[in-house]
Amino acid sequence: MSKVIVSSLYNSDVFRMACRQFDKAADAINLPETIRDRTKYPRRCLAVALPIKREDGSITVFEGYRVQHNLSTGPSKGGIRFHQSVTIGEVAALAMWMSWKCSLVGLPYGGAKGGVICDPNQLSQSELEHLARRYMQEMVNFVGPHVDVPAPDVGTNEKIMGWMMDTYSNHVGHLSPAVVTGKPIAIGGSQGRREATGAGVAYLTRKYLEDMKIPLSKTTVAIQGFGNVGSEAALALASYGAKIIAISDYTGAYYNPKGIPLKKALSYVQYQRVLRDFDGGEPITNEELLELKCTVLVPAALERVITEKNAAQLKCRLLAEAANGPTTNAADRILEERGDIEVIPDVLCNAGGVIVSYFEWLQNLSNFYWDRSEVLEKLFAILDKAKDSVEAQKRKFKFSRRLAALTLGIQRVAEAKQSRGLFP
Ligand code: GLU
Repeated sequence: MSKVIVSSLYNSDVFRMACRQFDKAADAINLPETIRDRTKYPRRCLAVALPIKREDGSITVFEGYRVQHNLSTGPSKGGIRFHQSVTIGEVAALAMWMSWKCSLVGLPYGGAKGGVICDPNQLSQSELEHLARRYMQEMVNFVGPHVDVPAPDVGTNEKIMGWMMDTYSNHVGHLSPAVVTGKPIAIGGSQGRREATGAGVAYLTRKYLEDMKIPLSKTTVAIQGFGNVGSEAALALASYGAKIIAISDYTGAYYNPKGIPLKKALSYVQYQRVLRDFDGGEPITNEELLELKCTVLVPAALERVITEKNAAQLKCRLLAEAANGPTTNAADRILEERGDIEVIPDVLCNAGGVIVSYFEWLQNLSNFYWDRSEVLEKLFAILDKAKDSVEAQKRKFKFSRRLAALTLGIQRVAEAKQSRGLFP
């Protein structure tokens, strides 16, 4: 019997949610007690203070984290989030999910996540650059191409990854593109990386709609979150023939039964940064968007938006989890009881991003670059294989699709730990 002295460090709703998911999955596959706690809890973390000189000459100290959940299956991998609601518990939960996601789709990586408590919309470009560089400077001894490889997440982008790669490279004394993925193409980024998460969400959505025998021409989609993932998923689904009837960001939601003009929405956010006052649809509330009658609901923003309060009211046929952890465990139970909504769980649905990050890392390490069609073809092949394995697991054990995906991911990490020995 293993015993863990659990610290209160990560204690938060979202970390407890990730832990409960693990416990349920571990019970479902009878994971031996001796391996449970060391598979479940994050291996290590770093918290840093980041003093930044502001445009007005004042100094602000931001707080940042990096949590490495597991390094047994390769360097740990996962994005860095810049958001005002970041907590170390949230970062730890996101790091856990990265472990199961990488393992589920067969990438040679462990899981990690980073975060800085800040509102990037309130920072100038130069303040943002200072913050990104200062964060990486503090992480130099904690990350690396064979240790832990960061990437973009909510609130970060290619530009920020480029600055971080530059800071790391300056410290080690040579160009080290493989330390970060999601970089601009000019400095070692991969073709297709920017759109990879959204493209993967759309590809899997199309595959599941095929299984459900729903034609794309009759498919309506509501997308919560219009950042990189939500907007790319919208574009790809529209290119397949689906109609995007609602989009939103934290400033507002917009509904248009004839179809949201996506190009207009994209150029709007490019100039205005946010969707506030967008006139391509009727303004509705975020809650109304989640409860719209539509074929596919795509939560593409933050965790815990589908809760016990709204799960019974959802009117979609398919829930495509583009965000990490959008559905609470209580909501998940309600959806399972209802049985009328298919769920593509986050660790499968949004894995396209980290899959193309893996391709970017491979291209950087081998200094040999692929074209876009090759990237997308390989991405879709991995997603097909992962989907098939999840469906087989679901059928074999009569699990929900989420439980099927999590048990596969967790099992592989636990097996790797066991195979490396030392412990019984
Ligand atoms: N932040 C993304 C995720 O949650 C991508 C991580 C990566 O590419 O390493 O999956």
